Amino acid sequence: DEELLAPSTVPGDTELDASLRPRTLSEFIGQAKVREQLELVLHAARNRGRTPDHILLSGPPGLGKTSLAMIIAAELGAAIRITSGPALERAGDLAAMLSNLVEGDVLFIDEIHRIARPAEEMLYLAMEDFRVDVVVGKGPGATSIPLDVAPFTLVGATTRSGALTGPLRDRFGFTAHMEFYESTELVRVLRRSAAILGIALAEEAAAEVASRSRGTPRIANRLLRRVRDYAEVRGDGQVDVASARAALAVYDVDELGLDRLDRAVLGALVRGFGGGPVGVSTLAVAVGEEPATVEEVCEPFLVRAGMIARTPRGRVATAAAWRHLHLTPPAGALN
Ligand code: ADP
Repeated sequence: DEELLAPSTVPGDTELDASLRPRTLSEFIGQAKVREQLELVLHAARNRGRTPDHILLSGPPGLGKTSLAMIIAAELGAAIRITSGPALERAGDLAAMLSNLVEGDVLFIDEIHRIARPAEEMLYLAMEDFRVDVVVGKGPGATSIPLDVAPFTLVGATTRSGALTGPLRDRFGFTAHMEFYESTELVRVLRRSAAILGIALAEEAAAEVASRSRGTPRIANRLLRRVRDYAEVRGDGQVDVASARAALAVYDVDELGLDRLDRAVLGALVRGFGGGPVGVSTLAVAVGEEPATVEEVCEPFLVRAGMIARTPRGRVATAAAWRHLHLTPPAGALN
């Protein structure tokens, strides 16, 4: 079964991603609050010799949800089974996974807000009573066979906790809200990654890359690799602040860390819709992207950077957004 993977393998992970993943809670940088909360949950469960409550990890992509799920399993000394909401289209897929679980296992469901309805309903019972009802046959002859599921811990990850149904959300005993990282934390992520990859990264260069990484470790690691490419090809391989800046310019990452899509969204909002308010799906159409990508990938950081405000009538550009695009904000623009 392809979905029963070794602990260190995540679909779509490259070898590099895997080598940079923190393996223990103490290696996990930042997110102090979440780490403290998790430590308590895991410690208490270990003391009791029971599986912990189900755990929901919520936050934008690249903040470390998958890494944390693996760490949770490692800290519990448990195996992890990895799947995702979109992969659980049929309830039967989920039933197969659940019935293969061994006591104490961690079941990680990424993008759990995208799980299909029948699988979601099956999950309720499994989470609550460690049981599933498998329907066999069709029509009037269909029968439902109850099956026991070994006690397990569900770790769900979502970029949109608001899109979870109430009943699903209620079945998690603990929700960790992951925040964007501070630059100082990203500097630590970069130093760690540079050491693992054998990159000579100057202190100032680390700060420069960190400040342009959209508060996101995955982006910091990606930019580190691009900056290294540049330093190797155009320089002597040492990453200093000048080569870091030059490399980031080549890859269209601006001083705030906004990339092409972020700027396209801001540009559409400001130039196409006079600064808004405009709905997110209209904005997405204007930049030729999926609404989910604009809403879950771009928008959270643009909001945190103070460029976009969410209002009941739609998205509005702030004065900072106009200025960032070198335009004069209209009178009455939000600050
Ligand atoms: P998510 O599941 O939220 O999209 P991941 O767990 O896949 O995020 O993290 C993306 C990458 O960022 C990982 O491969 C890891 O190298 C790095 N990373 C994430 N969080 C941290 C952290 N707290 N400390 C160090 N590296 C991290």
